[in-house]
Amino acid sequence: MIYTSTRDASVRVPASEAIAKGISSDGGLFVPMTIPTINLVDIERLMRLDYVGRANEILKLYLTDFTDDELSACVENAYRADKFSSPEIAPLYSLSDEVQVLELWRGPTCAFKDMALQLLPHLLTASAAKTRKNTKIVILVATSGDTGKAALEGFRDVENTQILVFYPENGVSPMQKLQMTTQEGANVGVCAIQGNFDDAQSGVKAIFTDRVLEEKFAEHHMAFSSANSINWGRLVPQIVYYVSAYCDMVKSEKLKIGAPMNVVVPTGNFGNILAAYYAKQMGVPIGKLICASNANNVLTDFLESGTYDKNRPFYCTESPSMDILISSNLERLLFLLSGQDADATRAYMEALSEKGSYKVSEKVFSALAELFAAGCCDDTDTERTIRRIYEKYGYLCDTHTAVALNVYAAYKTKTGDSTPTVIASTANPYKFSKSVLHAVAPELVTDDEFETVEALHKFTGAPVPPQLSCLRGKTPRFTGVVQKEDMANAVLEMLGI
Ligand SMILES: *Cc1c(COP(=O)(O)O)cnc(C)c1O
Repeated sequence: MIYTSTRDASVRVPASEAIAKGISSDGGLFVPMTIPTINLVDIERLMRLDYVGRANEILKLYLTDFTDDELSACVENAYRADKFSSPEIAPLYSLSDEVQVLELWRGPTCAFKDMALQLLPHLLTASAAKTRKNTKIVILVATSGDTGKAALEGFRDVENTQILVFYPENGVSPMQKLQMTTQEGANVGVCAIQGNFDDAQSGVKAIFTDRVLEEKFAEHHMAFSSANSINWGRLVPQIVYYVSAYCDMVKSEKLKIGAPMNVVVPTGNFGNILAAYYAKQMGVPIGKLICASNANNVLTDFLESGTYDKNRPFYCTESPSMDILISSNLERLLFLLSGQDADATRAYMEALSEKGSYKVSEKVFSALAELFAAGCCDDTDTERTIRRIYEKYGYLCDTHTAVALNVYAAYKTKTGDSTPTVIASTANPYKFSKSVLHAVAPELVTDDEFETVEALHKFTGAPVPPQLSCLRGKTPRFTGVVQKEDMANAVLEMLGI
């Protein structure tokens, strides 16, 4: 399998190089030049395997320069039963006959980012061993809250790596902040920036493509890589759980094999829903891909009109991991839907950075309209949905999952589409306790994060993940804040070079 860049059609690299580099030197993202396929017989075979077995089978179709032994070592280390709170790793919770919730937050940091970030460090060190001997890999991360913690946990004390995380000072929940600032490990660093997630992400991308910094790093036997979903190694593990969910739907007789399932994904950087698109292109019978956004509804407008326009107010919402106006992975989709046209994709991205907007061609727009449905909801409707789902089904969901459930309900009313549907549930509700408690029992909310956690637990009986409750009373290790212009200096300082 050969990978190319979304902005330069002449790029040809194997999977290990794409993962080790993270982003192409031209600023584009790596994509496989062909999408491998599976058929219904393959799906029947996958149905008989556990999550680890399914992951091995799917990953080896994409990561063809890894040996079977290398891959299975990576996968078995990533999805160990002692790290996940469900033996199924990504279990389906049946809300009703028609709606299943795919719980992607059973990993060590209670957000779906663990599904990829428990695996990425293993893939990355295996890749670096092939392509960059004697080099320390420096992972730079921009986070809207969950990626940071999941990456820190995944890379902590991994040999020959150093990880630095930037988060927006006022853009994450108190629990998310505490999870990051108390991170243990000798090779980790965390820094707040005065700015929003887009500023953090742009700052990291600028560091990646800075030739002077690259040389300075090379002198110190270091090389950058990315743990954001711009890295293909983040995306490919996410394809697995959509294939796996389809297998489980058939296994539990929610679906007949071959019949379609719809997927609803609460979306920020467009990584998770892009993985669902790949699963569909591989041959998994997925119907509509329903893209759910919060008040930062740039994607809703884009999918409805074909014009992407980030010139709009940025809102800090109760679903902060989706507070994003530049959805990086859309670039991969544009590349694919334009028939792998790197020039067209580069032109869209240049227009985005110069004017903040672009309009896609008719051809791309009609492909988008065929594949996707989209919707958005604000914080008031998010909380109403948390309450409605709790009261109707006794199921407590987080704010991001609630956005998806809200958008699904509106889609269903509008279209009457009764295709069995999987809702991607992306975080444990206790990561956003204040908003969730405010939704179900507003009179019980206090300003203290852990009193709120306890009140939510007493009121609902939903179990509190021990990895969150144990943060109570912990002193933060990392308290630094920098201006967004000073991110590169902060990196040099944290690395001591
Ligand atoms: C990251 C995140 C999202 C958005 O996922 P993308 O892949 O960036 O679209 C949604 N919900 C939660 C809880 C997240 O952490």
